[in-house]
Amino acid sequence: MPIKTIAVLGAGTMGHGIAHAAMTAGYDTVLYDVSQAAVDKGKSAIDAVISKSVQLGKATEEDAAAMRGRLTVSTVVADAVTNADVVIEAAPEKIDLKLQLFKAVEAAAPAHAVFASNTSALSITEMAAVLANPGRMGGMHFFNPVHRMKLIEVVKALETTPETIAVMEEVSAKMGKETVLVKESPGFVTSRINAMIGNEAFYMLQEGVASARDIDKALKLGLNHPMGPFELVDLVGLDTRLSILQYLHRTLGEKFRPSPLLEQHVAEGRLGRKVGRGVYDY
Ligand code: NAD
Repeated sequence: MPIKTIAVLGAGTMGHGIAHAAMTAGYDTVLYDVSQAAVDKGKSAIDAVISKSVQLGKATEEDAAAMRGRLTVSTVVADAVTNADVVIEAAPEKIDLKLQLFKAVEAAAPAHAVFASNTSALSITEMAAVLANPGRMGGMHFFNPVHRMKLIEVVKALETTPETIAVMEEVSAKMGKETVLVKESPGFVTSRINAMIGNEAFYMLQEGVASARDIDKALKLGLNHPMGPFELVDLVGLDTRLSILQYLHRTLGEKFRPSPLLEQHVAEGRLGRKVGRGVYDY
């Protein structure tokens, strides 16, 4: 069945970006959030991305108008998914909330619809387990900011069918993204490697191997990383990184034990750029 309509659940940082990607791909897009204020905020964030692409000459005014015409918003989940061929969830990272949401989605969506979660770390198999048909569910892990980042990790949960994977890959390709196929496991590929590098950088700083500036410089100029690990963690948030590491430590073992220096930074409130101080001062 051709895919025409995509519903995106959650209009925040990721949801608005995913909805924009769906609109760019030519899909009729429904953006759902729990309040009018939240959908309005998501819609104006999408508008800003579209206007910027017109300013930069990447899209014409006609393209922009056509794209805007493909978006509808809703604060009623059953309405949002009633015609959806694909539902992509980008609601807060809380398992109970996601389980409830997917139950409501399955009750209202067409029988053929495929469901994907954009979760960073929660179990998609656990989400699929609330469905009568768990094979229709998988993961589509986008990156922030969605309109600039090329990759989607397509995640196969325990019961995800090959047909569901094919739909997620088709949608990703139409959005102009590259995909990698990942079996569900903590941190997928990207968060797991990134957490490992970032944690190792803190251990090296703690051991006095080199200064933060020099560790960043070494990875940028020697290994071609676009950002150093400390520049990156200041952007991500040291508290966010610590909670990812604690989760990976719990699920994957000793090699992910968070560096005591990272824990100290978080305890001191050095949380990164968002508070003006992290590894560096801003
Ligand atoms: P966010 O807080 O920016 O947005 C979440 C949105 O969900 C908010 O607009 C909120 O109003 C809405 N919401 C609250 N309850 C809801 C419900 N019951 N149903 C639908 N929407 C609801 O969060 P975010 O950063 O966009 O993260 C969303 C998901 O994407 C999380 O699972 C997160 O782990 C994942 N993720 C985030 C990033 C990132 O860099 N921010 C990257 C990849 C994946």
